[in-house]
Amino acid sequence: MEENSNFIRSIIKEDLESGKRDTVVTRFPPEPNGYLHIGHAKSIVINFGIADEFNGQTNLRFDDTNPLKEDQEYVDSIKNDVTWLGYEWENLRYASDYFEEMYNRAVRLIKKGKAYVDDLSIEEIREYRGTLTEPGKDSPYRNRAVEENLDLFDRMRKGEFQNGEKVLRAKIDMSSGNINMRDPVIYRVSHATHHNTGDKWCIYPMYAFAHPIEDAIEGVTHSLCTTEFEEQRPLYNWVVEECEMSSKPQQIEFGRLNIENTVMSKRKLKQLVEEGYVDGWDDPRMPTISGLRRKGYTPEAIREFVQATGVSKGSGAVDEAMLEHFVREDLKLKAPRTMGVLDPLKVVITNYPEGQVEMLDAEINPENPEMGTRQIPFSREIYVEREDFMENPPKKYFRLFPGNEVRLKHAYFIKCEEVIKDENGEVVELRCTYDPETKSGTGFTGRKVKGTLHWVEATQALPAEFRLYEPLIRDEDLKAADESEDKTFIDFVNEDSLTIQQGFIEPNMKDAKPQDKFQFFRHGYFNVDPKHTNSEKLVFNRIVSLKSSFKL
Ligand code: ATP
Ligand code: MG
Repeated sequence: MEENSNFIRSIIKEDLESGKRDTVVTRFPPEPNGYLHIGHAKSIVINFGIADEFNGQTNLRFDDTNPLKEDQEYVDSIKNDVTWLGYEWENLRYASDYFEEMYNRAVRLIKKGKAYVDDLSIEEIREYRGTLTEPGKDSPYRNRAVEENLDLFDRMRKGEFQNGEKVLRAKIDMSSGNINMRDPVIYRVSHATHHNTGDKWCIYPMYAFAHPIEDAIEGVTHSLCTTEFEEQRPLYNWVVEECEMSSKPQQIEFGRLNIENTVMSKRKLKQLVEEGYVDGWDDPRMPTISGLRRKGYTPEAIREFVQATGVSKGSGAVDEAMLEHFVREDLKLKAPRTMGVLDPLKVVITNYPEGQVEMLDAEINPENPEMGTRQIPFSREIYVEREDFMENPPKKYFRLFPGNEVRLKHAYFIKCEEVIKDENGEVVELRCTYDPETKSGTGFTGRKVKGTLHWVEATQALPAEFRLYEPLIRDEDLKAADESEDKTFIDFVNEDSLTIQQGFIEPNMKDAKPQDKFQFFRHGYFNVDPKHTNSEKLVFNRIVSLKSSFKL
């Protein structure tokens, strides 16, 4: 974000240069009603990044004004994710820290004749609100006396009313062209236990009232949010003004991050978790920060990706290949190379001495020679990938078929001599011969072969599970769900979004730990899964294949 300019940076620069502001304070304000996703990462990178750049500070503030949907589990996961992404907040705050202050500000509004208690039901309030083309109607309770309002609001707080029985509304303008200004509800009765304040409160402030007060209390200078709040900006400013907040934050909106074939709605993600379509919020198919982490994404890759998407008012969806591009870039020099066979087919090398095992040298990362070399065993029995053999290959097939010779990566040329099948005609083993002259690294130039295969030595190979992922729901299916009368997005969850394969890996990987990342020859980058890996076997999540369709 350092190099390329964006409109938020320009505004802040100007504010500092003109003396309108002498410092920059931002906040990242999640509601703890779910886990963070990659869209939130954009808000995090922008808020923390821009404050950093101007030597300012950023608070992490939980917008916990809706006790029914919020939970400590979400608070904990959000703190963990922000830290993992590489950011340090100046202060950790909760909207609920300010409930008393908000209450007092609401009382102040009532005293000024700028707020009133309304007895209309939520449905009636909606009816009275009018539409984009019709003005709203005044509530019959709009002109209650200040004293009566003060008394009722006090009794709301004391718990004398049921949920929905009374609300406090700002008194602004029922005929405003902006519906948000038509006497918005600012407090509601909700007899619910709050994860922070317990049963202390039975009235809770509405987001549109609470948020500007929180920002002002914290001295936030630039309140950065997404464009769906643009229409609320006049209300935001009204609250700051009428509540007589001494600090005046400025709301600035930017476009949401959307990614193709990626469900980003918290509500939908929550449903996928709760109905068991995925293995928790951190399922590697989820676009959550925890899901991406478990899949094997690095904080660097996520930050680079988000920065590359830029900051603008627009919110078109970016290609998912762009996200993949950045993790490949990040892992290219960091991840050790190794070989793994996902779908094993046994090969016996008939002219290799029985009982002999030799150790072969292999570079750990040819693009980063400093990583050194590893040793891999080779013997008479190896596994190759089942798809690397065809009995009747088409033209231009350069892998194994009867009579053909290929190179084994880091080892020898082998030639397929015989195909062994079981009683069902299924190929169960290949018999090959090798040529000792062709050992890798000896500079053999006698003849060339076109195919190079990965493999693992059979007697020492470690069992491993490989998990390959595809989008949970594709955009075309989301669209079909939207257009369907009787189906929802849940009916379109991709049944092939997870493929599990049992294979083998090099024995030198025995000490791999959860979250270690590797590049498996030809298969792509993989991460050791922290949830399913156990002492019996390593489980690998494919982060991304090696092929890229993305061009920056
Ligand atoms: P909801 O409003 O349903 O709770 P939300 O995604 O807006 O969902 P918040 O917890 O309110 O969730 O989000 C915290 C911050 O992250 C907000 O400032 C919000 O604008 C920002 N944010 C959320 N989704 C995106 C996105 N896709 N791109 C950029 N910023 C986002
Ligand atoms: Mg929100």
